[in-house]
Amino acid sequence: MGHDVGDLLLTATTKRIQSCIREVDTLACLGGDDFVVLLTELDTQVEKATQTVALIAEKIRISLTAPYQLNSKEYLSSSSIGVSLYLDKVVTDSDLLKQTEMAMYRAKESGGNAVRFFNAEMQLAVETRAALEADLRHAVSEQQLQLYYQIQVDSEQHPIGAEALVRWIHPTRGMVSPVQFIPLAEESSLILEVGDWVMEAACRQLVVWSKSEQTKHLTLAVNVSSKQFKQPDFLERVKSLIHAYELDASRLKIELTETVVLNDVTEVIVKMHALKALRVGLSMDDFGTGYSSLSYLKQLPMDQIKIDQSFVHDMTSDQNDVVMVKTIIDMAKNFHLNVIAEGVETEAHLSLLKQMGCMAYQGYLFGKPVPIEQFEALLRKDAVI
Ligand code: C2E
Ligand code: MG
Ligand code: MG
Repeated sequence: MGHDVGDLLLTATTKRIQSCIREVDTLACLGGDDFVVLLTELDTQVEKATQTVALIAEKIRISLTAPYQLNSKEYLSSSSIGVSLYLDKVVTDSDLLKQTEMAMYRAKESGGNAVRFFNAEMQLAVETRAALEADLRHAVSEQQLQLYYQIQVDSEQHPIGAEALVRWIHPTRGMVSPVQFIPLAEESSLILEVGDWVMEAACRQLVVWSKSEQTKHLTLAVNVSSKQFKQPDFLERVKSLIHAYELDASRLKIELTETVVLNDVTEVIVKMHALKALRVGLSMDDFGTGYSSLSYLKQLPMDQIKIDQSFVHDMTSDQNDVVMVKTIIDMAKNFHLNVIAEGVETEAHLSLLKQMGCMAYQGYLFGKPVPIEQFEALLRKDAVI
C-alpha cells in the first residue's frame, strides 16, 4: 500500500508494543519492520523470569493481531517473536541479538504469529553457522571454490549450453552445497567476493569454449544473487570482464530470482536494460515460487523464464502442477519469452513438457552438475550420437 501506509503501520505497531511493556524496558526499531524489546529488572530465578518474559511476549503477539485502522481502512498484521534470556552468561550484545533473531526465524518458519525461545539446539546451529562463515572468508583466497556445469538441451536434446553452479570444496568438511553456503554468504558482503569469482571463472570458460567449433555456440548461465546484482558497480564489473576477456556477451546469461525485483523495480529495470544493451542474456530462475506477478513480468526485459523444479517434479503426480507448468509456458510464449524447465528427471517429465510446448530442458535426465572435464566428455558423447 506504499511507504506512507507502511509508516502508519510501524507507528501503530510501536504504540501497541509500548503499551505491553513497562517504563524501565526499552523498545527500539532496528530498521524495516524489526523491533527489539529489552526487558530489564526481571526475577533472579530463571523459571520466574522466563514466565514473565513469556507472558509479555504473548501479550505483544496478541496485541499485534488486532485489526489496524490506517487511513480509515482496516488492515490485519501479525508478528514473529524470538526471545533470548540473558542469564549471567558471557554473551556479547551482538550474540544476544543473533540468538533472538534465530528464535524469531523459528517463529517465522512455524508459520508466523508465534513466539519462540532460543534454546541449546539453536545454539549449536548458531555455532556451526559461525564456524562455516569464518571458513568461508578464506574460500576464495585459498582457491576452494569450483564451478560445476549442468547441461541444458533443446527439444531435440542437443546441447545448447550449461548452468554454472558453484561448489565449495572444504579441506575438512568435503563438498559443501551452495544451498548451505550461498545464504550464509548473502548475509554478509562475502557474496560479492564469491559472486565475482564465479562470474570471472564463467567468463574464462566461455573464452575456452569460443575457440572450438563444438562449443562456441554454447551459452553459460551464471546465478547472480540479488545483493550482488544491486551493487552499484555490478554493471561495470560485468562490462569490464566482457572487455578483458573479449567475450561474445550473448553467450553469457545471468540468472536472477524474483527477490531481485522486490524493491526498487525501476532501478532493477534500468540495470537489466543496460545488460541487454551489452547483449548479455537474462533468465528468471525458480519462476513461480516467489512473488511472480504479471505486472512486473511485463516490465522486465527478460529473455527467458526458468520453470522451477518443484512444479516439474510434482507434475506427474499432481494435476495442479501440470496446469501451473502449462500456464507458465503459455504465458512465456505470449510475452515472447524463451522458456526452460529445470529439474527434468524422467522421460515422463520430458514428454509432458514437450507436449506443452517447452523449448529447453535441464535436469538429471540429461546430466547432473559436473566438473568441466566431465561436462566436456558429455558433449563429446553427444557429438558421437
Ligand atoms: P538453482 O539456480 O535453481 O539451481 C538448480 C539446482 O537444482 C542445482 O542445485 C542443481 O544441482 C539442482 N538440479 C538440477 N537438476 C536437477 C534435477 O533433475 N533434480 C533435482 N532434484 N535437482 C536438480 P545446486 O547446484 O545445489 O544449487 C542450488 C542453488 O544454489 C541454485 O539453485 C542457486 O540458487 C544457488 N547457487 C548455485 N551456484 C550459485 C552461484 O554461483 N551464485 C549464486 N548466487 N547462487 C548459486
Ligand atoms: Mg539457477
Ligand atoms: Mg532454479
